[in-house]
Amino acid sequence: MPRRITELCTCDGSCKDVCPVECISEGSPIYIIDEDICIDCGACESVCPTDGAIIEV
Ligand code: SF4
Ligand code: SF4
Repeated sequence: MPRRITELCTCDGSCKDVCPVECISEGSPIYIIDEDICIDCGACESVCPTDGAIIEV
C-alpha cells in the first residue's frame, strides 16, 4: 500500500530526505507523496515526528 501525507503534516521535511525513490515533494500547505511512484518501503513513516501525518492508502 502506498503512503499518503495527511493534514497533520508539520512540514519539517524529514520524509523527503529519506525517500529512496524521491516521490515526496514540498507542496502547499503540506508535503505530497506521488502514490504512483511510492514503493511502500515505510522509510518516511519511520522518520516522521508526527503521529498520523503519514498513512497507508
Ligand atoms: S513509503 Fe518509501 S517510497 Fe513511499 S513515500 Fe515513503 S519513503 Fe517514499
Ligand atoms: S516527516 Fe511527517 S511531518 Fe515531516 S514533512 Fe514528512 S509527513 Fe510532514
